[in-house]
Amino acid sequence: MHELSVCFEVVRTLEELVAENGLTEVQSVTLEIGELSSMIPKYMEECFPAAVDGTIFERTKLEIEVIPGLGRCNSCSHMYQLLPVNGVCPECGEKNFSVISGTAFNIKEILAC
Ligand SMILES: [Zn+2]
Repeated sequence: MHELSVCFEVVRTLEELVAENGLTEVQSVTLEIGELSSMIPKYMEECFPAAVDGTIFERTKLEIEVIPGLGRCNSCSHMYQLLPVNGVCPECGEKNFSVISGTAFNIKEILAC
């Protein structure tokens, strides 16, 4: 599954951060997942325990923030959330937009002690 390899990628990044900063334990990690990215938050949550199994992150809490997928209409410049309307502009009915946000996937922050 795609999410599992992404989880391993996150764990690898965490290991680097821990090594660089001389940390011993990470309490929580916050991921930002865009609605329009290929990542599904529920699958990430399911994959995370498998990815951290046997690492120092076994007790690390996974937090996920979903970033709404926003677009701007190229016809009338209206800004709207793309998914609920399947990309169709609620103002003018055109399906001609530029994506503003919601495609990214990031590690937003980690909480360490
Ligand atoms: Zn429009």
